[in-house]
Amino acid sequence: MHPLFDIPASPPAPEPARTPPRRPGPAARLDAQQLVEGLNGPQRDAVTHAGSPLLIVAGAGSGKTRVLTHRIAYLLAARDVHPGEIIAITFTNKAAGEMKERVAALVGPRARLMWVSTFHSACVRILRAEHEHAGLKSTFSIYDADDSRRLMQLVARELDLDPKRYPARGLAAQVSNLKNELVDPEQFAARAKGPNERALAEAYTLYQRRLREAHALDFDDLIMTTVHLLQSHPHVAESYRRRFRHVLVDEYQDTNHAQYALIKELVSGTEGIEPAELCVVGDADQSIYAFRGATIRNILEFERDFTDARTILLEQNYRSTQTILNAANAVIDRNTSRKPKRLWSEAGAGERIVGYVADTEHAEADWVAREIDRLVDEGDTRPGDVAVFYRTNAQSRVFEEVFIRVGLPYKVVGGVRFYERKEVRDALAYLRAVVNDDDTVSLRRVLNTPRRGIGDRAEACVEALSSRDRISFGAALRRAKDAPGISTRAANGIAEFVALLDGARELAETGTPEEVLEALLTRSGYLTELEESLDPQDAGRVDNLQELVSVAREYTERIEALGEEGERATVAGFLEQVALVADADQVPTDDPDHQGVVTLMTLHTAKGLEFPVVFLTGLEDGVFPHLRSLGDTRELEEERRLAYVGITRARQRLYLSRAVTRSAWGQPAQDVYEPSVRSQRTNSGGTPKAAQLAKRLGVDASRLATASELPQGPKVSAGDRVNHQRYGLGRVLAVEGHGPGARAQIDFGDQTMWLVLRHAPIDKL
Ligand code: ATP
Ligand code: MG
Repeated sequence: MHPLFDIPASPPAPEPARTPPRRPGPAARLDAQQLVEGLNGPQRDAVTHAGSPLLIVAGAGSGKTRVLTHRIAYLLAARDVHPGEIIAITFTNKAAGEMKERVAALVGPRARLMWVSTFHSACVRILRAEHEHAGLKSTFSIYDADDSRRLMQLVARELDLDPKRYPARGLAAQVSNLKNELVDPEQFAARAKGPNERALAEAYTLYQRRLREAHALDFDDLIMTTVHLLQSHPHVAESYRRRFRHVLVDEYQDTNHAQYALIKELVSGTEGIEPAELCVVGDADQSIYAFRGATIRNILEFERDFTDARTILLEQNYRSTQTILNAANAVIDRNTSRKPKRLWSEAGAGERIVGYVADTEHAEADWVAREIDRLVDEGDTRPGDVAVFYRTNAQSRVFEEVFIRVGLPYKVVGGVRFYERKEVRDALAYLRAVVNDDDTVSLRRVLNTPRRGIGDRAEACVEALSSRDRISFGAALRRAKDAPGISTRAANGIAEFVALLDGARELAETGTPEEVLEALLTRSGYLTELEESLDPQDAGRVDNLQELVSVAREYTERIEALGEEGERATVAGFLEQVALVADADQVPTDDPDHQGVVTLMTLHTAKGLEFPVVFLTGLEDGVFPHLRSLGDTRELEEERRLAYVGITRARQRLYLSRAVTRSAWGQPAQDVYEPSVRSQRTNSGGTPKAAQLAKRLGVDASRLATASELPQGPKVSAGDRVNHQRYGLGRVLAVEGHGPGARAQIDFGDQTMWLVLRHAPIDKL
């Protein structure tokens, strides 16, 4: 999600008929006049304010970004500012692109001389220009999260750190946090206490040294290095201070300490140079990047940080109907640690909000597709007016499938398409290797993923053996210990890998694709590595793998329900289906009627945007709010801010939906929040736990069933005889797990299967 490079500049807007002259003449003044027309009082104050640092705090849709854009245009038109003197910082490439577009629409191609970019790309620009002062080659490389984790892995190995205790991902995440706080290795080493901190300090020091040697910077370095450069080279800092007379920052609530320090460096005055004018806009209620070190402190303390600061509040919302705003306010009002705000709209009550409770996530996606279809048929909505939001990237898959099926054009913004994601590709490579022992590409892809001590050298040894004896790479793997020059460690790793695949092949003979997949992901350690990681992206990867297991399960169910006589769900069949879907996935959606396409995106990517019609989906406990936040007040407050962001993207129509059951790991997970119509315990007050949960969610306790009260299914043990509504009489062979997760392997005579007891319609005899 780290936005790095500016998206290519959009084609410059046509030059306005009357280009404002460089020096303010009568025409420019007229322009300036036009710029402030149509703004409300406080907005106008913000646009025309000159001199002291300016903070604009306001709720969603109150025109903060608009003020920023108009302010830039006003600086050019009325205050004789040269575009090159302006730097405007936004949070994502998308936002930067849109701002450039907006400014270009106002001032024409001159907009290109300004720096409108993300923090990261602004820093790359400075570092490329000043590489000598920063002690870097001009061609320094930039490591993304994956690269830096790989490097950390090497470092940890070199330091002989126990990978169980100090997984590379965890170390990398902690180093990232330190960099966001501008703590360098020396500082951290000096203050590190206890074995864990000392290990981290060692890892940080060596990691940083290796980065230096490789002339590489990781993402967090881009900002930290720039700040340190400006702090240690006054003449460099001075040149930028001289250059940038206006610094503007959008979404200030999402800046972290390093970014704050960068701004501070840029706007500090030096001898002979007045401090630059600073203008930041933000909304503490929309702070949704705490996990990346963002701190709303930067907003709350603005007046302390910058002397003479002026604060302007905006209260009128121009985006949404009052109904939508009321919903947004109702959600955010539950956060205790916030200043209450009054946000109002002149747009009138508008359409009512529509809520929908679907039985499954498929039913939810079906409903969304049907509803979009209906709106489009009615005539005043185009697909391009509609956005569908969800909490995690993995949730896009069901929507994509349904939209492909019904022919609704869509695009997924942010996040790689599901089948292009690394973890999904890795998992599919495992399955391909199971099905086809000779699939060299897939074998090599996962040979050392997760790491099992098989380095490039070992791989080369196996390759040499395969070409010497003219056997496939897969066959050579089986004889790896005979490969000349191979180390024992690597040979053992390979034997382990071969055994893993053989085990999976055996399982594939009788088991379902999802069982094979799950077995591979667990037994290979792939899953554990992700689960133990502290890198927030890895949680998303686990979600995606869960989702893939669900895809496999659906495939199996489809074959079981609709397959031909005697047809069995196989891994090969599953892979074939995936290949077809993944292929369809690549087809660019053409847009002959310029109707636009439906936008699918996560809530995090939706920040700053607006759409006439918004679907906020997956509103179940554990999905959104995310499982990690349940029971943690601070995290729950962040989830509410995320919901607030989502709701306030909507201009006219808002839909809220959720599914009663949603597949995770191929097993439907029951929502703990059950609507009264479905609940069997409509009138019970529930347990104290239920009451607590109800209070937290602000719903009637009688409508809740907590997870512990979910039907757990009959208690059975090996040897018991059971009767299944569909499969008839059977005998329990084995039981695994407990509580709502318990599963039993049951022999029904003609077939044996694993069933989740909670869902299985069985009676113990
Ligand atoms: P967010 O908090 O979501 O980033 P924001 O405060 O940046 O929102 P904008 O995106 O600038 O809000 O504005 C929201 C919408 O309201 C835009 O469509 C914008 O053009 C419109 N708008 C803002 N101010 C005015 C105004 N004075 N008159 C008419 N429309 C306005
Ligand atoms: Mg905005």
